[in-house]
Amino acid sequence: MLGSRMEDALNGQLNGELQAAYTYLAMAAHSDAQSLPGFAHWLEEQAREELGHAMRFYRFILDRGGKISLKAIQPPPSDFGTLLEVFERALQNEQSVTRSIYELYKLAEEEEDYASHTLLEDFAAEQVEEEKSVTEIIDSVRRVGADGTGLLLLDRELAQRSRE
Ligand code: MG
Repeated sequence: MLGSRMEDALNGQLNGELQAAYTYLAMAAHSDAQSLPGFAHWLEEQAREELGHAMRFYRFILDRGGKISLKAIQPPPSDFGTLLEVFERALQNEQSVTRSIYELYKLAEEEEDYASHTLLEDFAAEQVEEEKSVTEIIDSVRRVGADGTGLLLLDRELAQRSRE
């Protein structure tokens, strides 16, 4: 049985993952509108992945006999500025998700909730990957700068991302 503090916190994380999916989807639309289909594709896949994270928390809460309480999702910004700004914001968002996973982890320890612990270990490792892949894109976007050909090549590379 899930303790009520853990239940609240996991519902909060479920909301955070949905919020992340929503934000990536807005970023995808923004990139699509700028004729960068590869970037848009990568961001759409990222939105899908966040939905997958949300569903893992959803299923976990239910499997532990907890109650799902869905909260409001805030509208993401409709304009994200330059491509670099899009990914810098994505990195900030991922870093904030990492912090909230760590908070949950700390709570799971306090509550001696070892099942949550195991789930959150997975997510802590996942966040390392998330931050790494967004950082790599930021580095590539910086390197390309104003070079149109470089941007086209990068867009083509990101178009290759397969579904996870
Ligand atoms: Mg996530």
